[in-house]
Amino acid sequence: MTTVWISPSATSFSCLCEPCLEAARRSGLLFADALMRASVRGSIPATADVSSRRCAAGHEIVLRRIERPASLPHHDDRQLALS
Ligand SMILES: [Zn+2]
Repeated sequence: MTTVWISPSATSFSCLCEPCLEAARRSGLLFADALMRASVRGSIPATADVSSRRCAAGHEIVLRRIERPASLPHHDDRQLALS
């Protein structure tokens, strides 16, 4: 099973199915072909935190949305200069 982390505002994703990538690699495919075969793309509603998809070969891919970093301060150039 592949877990893919997506950003808080993303409504689409593209990822690689790890089992497919591994299988393609083992069967001696060219890397570019392996990437193409393992590539999974789709969309996810902005309100969904977790969703799952299946790749063309039927492996499950779990999409998890990274939580918004509510407690983190805004990026600040002064902090950067101090550290
Ligand atoms: Zn797969």
